[in-house]
Amino acid sequence: MDLESKVQYIKGIGPKKAFAFERLGVKTLADLMLFFPYQYQDRNLILPLNQCLRMKSDESFCTLVKIGKTYQKRSNNNLYMFEVEVSDHTAKTYLRFFRKKNPYANFDPFSALKKDFEFGKFVYVCAKNTRSFGFNFVTPQDYEIVDDLARPPRNFKMILPIYAATETLSQKDIRESIKYVLQNCVQDYPDISDIIAQTPMFENLKACEAIHNLHFPQSLQEAETARRAFAAQEFIILQTALSLSRQKIKLSQKDQKYEIKKTLLTPFKNNLSFEFTNAQKKCIREIFEDMRRSCPTNRLLMGDVGSGKTVVALSAILLAIENGYQTMFVAPTEILAQQHFENIKALTAGLDVKIALITSSELMRKKVREKILADLENGEIDIAVGTHSLLEDRVKFKNLSFVVVDEQHRFGVIQKLQALRKSNNPDILMMTATPIPRALALSVYGEMDMSTIDALPKGRAPIKTFYSQEHRAYSFAIDEIKKGGQVYIVYPLIDESDKVQLKSATESAQKLSLSYFKDFSVGLLHGRMPASQKAEVMEKFKAKEFDVLISTSVIEVGVDVPNATVMIIENASNFGLSALHQLRGRIGRGTKQAYCFLLGPAKNENAQARLEIITKTNDGFKIAEADLKMRGPGEILGTAQHGFAEFKAGHILKDADIIEFAKDFARNAIEKDPKLQDPQNAKLRDVVVKNFGHKLMLINVG
Ligand code: ADP
Ligand code: MG
Repeated sequence: MDLESKVQYIKGIGPKKAFAFERLGVKTLADLMLFFPYQYQDRNLILPLNQCLRMKSDESFCTLVKIGKTYQKRSNNNLYMFEVEVSDHTAKTYLRFFRKKNPYANFDPFSALKKDFEFGKFVYVCAKNTRSFGFNFVTPQDYEIVDDLARPPRNFKMILPIYAATETLSQKDIRESIKYVLQNCVQDYPDISDIIAQTPMFENLKACEAIHNLHFPQSLQEAETARRAFAAQEFIILQTALSLSRQKIKLSQKDQKYEIKKTLLTPFKNNLSFEFTNAQKKCIREIFEDMRRSCPTNRLLMGDVGSGKTVVALSAILLAIENGYQTMFVAPTEILAQQHFENIKALTAGLDVKIALITSSELMRKKVREKILADLENGEIDIAVGTHSLLEDRVKFKNLSFVVVDEQHRFGVIQKLQALRKSNNPDILMMTATPIPRALALSVYGEMDMSTIDALPKGRAPIKTFYSQEHRAYSFAIDEIKKGGQVYIVYPLIDESDKVQLKSATESAQKLSLSYFKDFSVGLLHGRMPASQKAEVMEKFKAKEFDVLISTSVIEVGVDVPNATVMIIENASNFGLSALHQLRGRIGRGTKQAYCFLLGPAKNENAQARLEIITKTNDGFKIAEADLKMRGPGEILGTAQHGFAEFKAGHILKDADIIEFAKDFARNAIEKDPKLQDPQNAKLRDVVVKNFGHKLMLINVG
């Protein structure tokens, strides 16, 4: 039996329970060890009954009492009650258990309780007080019958771990299985504590100790200490993986060389209808510096929606073209690729630059495909704008040197890019509109250099956002259209393939175009349309052929129609915070005041809180932080797929200090021992390769 053994080998875990474990992500004994409780119940204090009975009804307490008489009663039509008289030397009370009873079935719902609550025995009870219609009684949450008062109880006088149990897997199943692995193989769990120096920041426990204390701590303080100790190891392993991969890039040499010639850059700047902001200038400078180094660029450009990332990226693209290279601009969706294509064409009008659009629907047409693929291969095309189709093997370049990936968190191209890096080491610039707290950025993008466009272009009035009624929003929209503005109306489709939802969006679109907006032209856009049709609708909206665009959330990222000043979001509480912020970012892109209306009921408190945040702030950074608190980091970054931001014990917000520590630790370790060949680093290397070897193709140690 070892860490990789299946949980089914544990006594009491048959195929059914093993399957239930698997659905919780627990397959092996190692997984099980790391299946940490999500909270604890402090059962150290066993109080006399009279003190318990004085407690408020939302406080749980533990007590040790003697069992008296029991009664079975009918409480109302279909509820039955089992009542147990209990007492100690200070007081007497009644425990009440309620069960639904089917009058036609002849099995007794209380049979197990009747067997347990034997007159005269002692019982540990964890319970809360209930006051109902002038009666006071006690509602038990858990109990343990005592067979021998001299022996310590199993689940009382301790801190009880509470796990994410399921119908098939009870707390007890999980607890007992974990006790088993802790007794038998936790000492084999990989540990790197001996290479970590002591620090006041966290206690440097051995991994097996930390794991043990996370499950069965003596005190809540001990659980937290263990959590931070284990988190430190997790973060160090991740940061080492990221440092290795970063170093691999820094040590590699690229062939491309750039000289700032300004043959394209100057006319490009002169053509723009605006000046770069200082924030944009700073980022351009940083990217140019990267490009002129001998190792490939590996930078993440962050900037809130509307901060103007595109022209920053385009400046770098033009520097590459000035020097005779080809470039690639990858977008997550066809619509966005199309938009960037049009946009870049307009921004480079009059310059000697050839641009092509490469998406799967473009490539479907044989003639177009042959021409484009040939032109890319013979170096005719300077900028290839497209979707991930660009990364297919059949797309070959003569001398590709620079790659931009827009809204990178939206799609998992990282691995593919790395394959690309293997062949010819292009410079890579990733862009994201999800501003992320530094600790999170470090833990996910630690291997990248980062630049932030930290200010919006001048003259942007902040979008005004209201939680509003349909009638008011539509009337307002009509007024704006009359003044020359355009309007988005968005329906949340959780899943573009959901036919019922889609139908309701389409029907509402029809209704609106016949009622409120009957005097205006209304376009419809949804994710299930063929790409060419989507592009056509977007182009028409941009050309002002439509006053109103009714859409599902396909417009969520990147789309740029500066004349649109109103956005109405139906059933807004169905969207997450980041999605709402991204959506809203489609308006307010010009100098005109923009308005956003959130409609529909807030489904629950959480939804209410989300809507409140969105109406109060336009700051993507604050919104991302709130989002991070309300949801997991993996969901926000879409990183769940490559599992970077998922930690068993580590917490991105609470442990920012440890993440910094881990980053420094990893950088130092790699500086001194670049391939981790030193025998003292052997364990570290093993766990890094084991955990991240398949995720980071760049890691290639030993
Ligand atoms: P995002 O960062 O969300 O991708 P875009 O690059 O699409 O933003 O830019 C948003 C809008 O702002 C575009 O219409 C763009 O032309 C405009 N823009 C970019 N930089 C500036 C600037 N310095 N001053 C004024 N407008 C700008
Ligand atoms: Mg953009």
